[in-house]
Amino acid sequence: RGTTPEPPDVRPRLTVLSGPSGVGKSTVVAHMRKAHPEVWLSVSATTRKPRPGEKDGVHYFFVTDDEMDKLIANGELLEWAEFAGNRYGTPRGAVLERLERGEPVLLEIDLQGARQVRETMPDAQLVFLAPPSWDELVRRLTGRGTEPPEVIERRLDAAKVELAAEPEFDVTLVNTSVEDVARELLALMDVV
Ligand code: 5GP
Repeated sequence: RGTTPEPPDVRPRLTVLSGPSGVGKSTVVAHMRKAHPEVWLSVSATTRKPRPGEKDGVHYFFVTDDEMDKLIANGELLEWAEFAGNRYGTPRGAVLERLERGEPVLLEIDLQGARQVRETMPDAQLVFLAPPSWDELVRRLTGRGTEPPEVIERRLDAAKVELAAEPEFDVTLVNTSVEDVARELLALMDVV
């Protein structure tokens, strides 16, 4: 009574990086974490099969369809989405633990997931990573060389829809240079 309450800490601690598949989200995040390993990135669960070099528990938790069903049914995911024939979701517990400690949290998820986070955690900062051009996005998705043509087609179809969602985001970063975008993202996360 009689004291002015502390203003709430409005700094966004939860940052969501989204954007079309192939735009370079993982490359930007990897670059950023090399310089700032203290920036914690949520590890998602997915029913997708690992790509060469991907490690369980590091890049993703690779789960079966049954395991994913259980995670969803038990409310263990903060958000989840089906993307190009596979399901992906963010484990809730680890994210909330860090946010409760006031630590910055980064999610690298697809557009449908970003929309769910917008609904459930309205204070989250939504960042859209845009390609320099459509041709560049096609080049990157095709050049990855790890996916068969029909998978690339599906991802390009998804990308067209995803590009249209840019106005829903708080901030847009154009991926012309990995270094620049990584630096901008860190600044948005209030890390530097
Ligand atoms: P990829 O198969 O290329 O690793 O990922 C495909 C898409 O799924 C990417 O846009 C990636 O950001 C997104 N994604 C990865 N993890 C999650 C997640 O936990 N939730 C949602 N909604 N999307 C995710």
